[in-house]
Order: sequence, then structure tokens, then C-alpha cells
Amino acid sequence: MILSFPNMGRSIYAFKTLFEQLDIKVVLADPTNREAIKIGVKYSPEFVCFPFKATLGDFVSAIKKGADTLVMAIDCGPCRFGFYHAVQERILHDMGYKNVRVIPLDQADLLEFRWLETLQEVSGKHGLFAYSKYVKAVIFFLKKAKLLNDIQTAEGLFRAYERNQGDTTIIVKNLLDKLDQTNNLKGLRNFKNVIKEDFNNLDMDKTISPLRVGLSGEIHVSLEPYVNLDIRRKLGEMGIEIHQSLSLYDWVVHKFHLNYHRKWLEHLSHPYVPMDIGGECVWVLGEYIDKAKAGFDGFVHSYPFTCMPEVTARTIITNKLKRIYDLPIIYFSFDEQSGMEGFRTRLEAFVDLINDRRKQEIKNNAEFQANGNKKIYPHYGDNFYNECIQLLQVK
Ligand code: SF4
Repeated sequence: MILSFPNMGRSIYAFKTLFEQLDIKVVLADPTNREAIKIGVKYSPEFVCFPFKATLGDFVSAIKKGADTLVMAIDCGPCRFGFYHAVQERILHDMGYKNVRVIPLDQADLLEFRWLETLQEVSGKHGLFAYSKYVKAVIFFLKKAKLLNDIQTAEGLFRAYERNQGDTTIIVKNLLDKLDQTNNLKGLRNFKNVIKEDFNNLDMDKTISPLRVGLSGEIHVSLEPYVNLDIRRKLGEMGIEIHQSLSLYDWVVHKFHLNYHRKWLEHLSHPYVPMDIGGECVWVLGEYIDKAKAGFDGFVHSYPFTCMPEVTARTIITNKLKRIYDLPIIYFSFDEQSGMEGFRTRLEAFVDLINDRRKQEIKNNAEFQANGNKKIYPHYGDNFYNECIQLLQVK
């Protein structure tokens, strides 16, 4: 058996560890590319969500590299995500890949431990001894997912300060390679320091005061750089500090009912959407309010074209929240038709707009002027983010 799973940005490194720790042979699909999207679009129903098409293309790429067992996460609805695996398996069989299985990885409620049945099914390991293997695999998975989250946090912060465009991207790539090769607990425990050390060596201009922008949206589009036209890098290279709490780790901890940050976001969005309607709708609304309260300068909402929950979030922000909180927002709906030039023009216009607002804000605020014309933000972010901020404060 050779196993694979679809791309979702850097999350592949955590999933690879999870299955390799169970002695399963894993092949990775090629990074999502034009060819994968072309295949996904060609064989998918026209009206289906874009992540369905992109992940179908990834599956074909993995099959061509020898994969015969494909794992696809599923949820209990209420949107279309719950049906991806079954429909994709039928399409792959119709395409002629008759021996391929698409196995659902149930993540509706991780405390129900149905995911353990999937791990048992693909690894074939049963009995008491096998449980120590599962525990180790899950610990490695969670640790790598958290470290990927930390890399994302540091990247979003430090890129805004880099003097030589591209240095942050190189550091991130090296860190991902190192993390992929770190498969012992001692190394993983120490890896947070490796992230801080590597970013601390970046050639930075610590005198600047970058604009702060929050990024949120549907999880696949938000995490997969080919699909979102690498929006985080583009914004960072325009000198913007990016805050994106959405990550694989953020999602998994939420599904273990331990994500208090998400519970806070749910509390904030409750007056507008009192229940989970799928996608990230509830949390996008919460993020928008949270970032507005934290004095952020802008907000980016990205989602797949035709994504019902995210379109609902967009409508509520436009018609209600924007009037209350007045945080500038730009929306990006991505699909196979997304083009770079229009995207870049809109992004640049948005950055110009929030830059002008920042200048006005400083002009009207004596405290900011006394701070060397730098905006003062309230305390924000998790422990790791604040540890990174301390590195920036050392001259
Ligand atoms: S969240 Fe949006 S893109 Fe994802 S399955 Fe649901 S409707 Fe489709």
C-alpha cells in the first residue's frame, strides 16, 4: 500500500509524519500546479467548490507517483465538504483508476476518536502494542502542526521587516526542510528555538512600523499558496505584517475542543451567526471583530468561488460589521480563473488605502506622534508571537 493525501500548504509535513510513524509508505503529490488544477476542473462537476477540484488534481498527481490509498478529511456538514471523498472516489474510478481507494478521515469531533479507526484501517495495526505507536504518531503530528503554526506566525511578522526581499522566504523553506527531517522528540521540543534563531539572523530594519493586516477565510484556500496566489508572501513583501491564526494546528485543537481562541471568536460572532454553518464563517466574523478591536489596519477575507458559508460571512461583514467596526476589508474569491494581474492591482490599491488611513490616524493622535509617528497597538497575539516581538525590540 502506498498512501497519499491532498495538498493544503505546509500541512503536508504534519500528515506525512502521522502516517510514516505508523510505518506506512507515503508519497506526496506534486505541489499543486496548473496541471493538477486543469485535471481537477476537467473531471469535477462544474458547480462544485474549488477545493474539491484542486484536491482531485492532487490525487491524480499522487496516483501517477504510485499511490493507491488516498486519505481525505471529512466533516459532518453542513456544507459540501462531507461528500468530497465519496464523489472523488467515484470520479477516480470513472477516470480508470479502478484500484484506488479514498478513505475518509473523520474530523467532525476528534474526541469521538473515529479518526483512530481510519489509522487502524490504513496501518493494519491492532492490539495493545499498536496503541503506543498511535500515541507516538499523534504526538509527532501535533508537535509538527504546532511548529508549522509557529513558522507561519514568525513569517507573517518578520517578512515586513526584511531588508532584502526574499530572505524570509528562504528562511521558511530551510525551516520546513529541517522540520521534515526532525523525527525525534528532543529535536521537536527544541525546534521553537531553531525558528526564533533563524528569524533572528534575518537582516531587518527594526525602525519601521508596518501596517497590521489580519488574514482569514476558508481553510484550504487560506493555506494553499498556489490557490491563493501566495497572498501572504505578496502582502508581506509590500511591507505588511500578516496575522493569520488559521492553520492546521488551530483547526485540530478546535476539533479536540481545546481551542479557547476559537471559542472567543465564536462568542464575538454569536450575535450575527449563532451556529456553525460550515466553512470558517463563524470564525471569520469573530476574527474581523477581534482584529478591529485590536487596532488592526486592514483585513483580508479569501474563499473559494461559490463557497456558501464564506459568502454568508462576506455579506454579514459588508452589511453589518463594517458599519460598526470600520475596519477596511478586501475580499478575494479564488477559482481556476483567478489571474495574477487583477489580483495584484487590487491588493496594491488596498495597501495604499490603509496606508493613507494610518497617516490620518497618526496625524490625529498625539500619543502616536509622541511615539515617533508610530502607531501603538494594544497587546495582542499568542506567547510565540510575543516572543518574536521581543526579538524585534532588541536593537
Ligand atoms: S467550506 Fe465552502 S468550499 Fe469548503 S466544502 Fe464547504 S462550501 Fe465548499
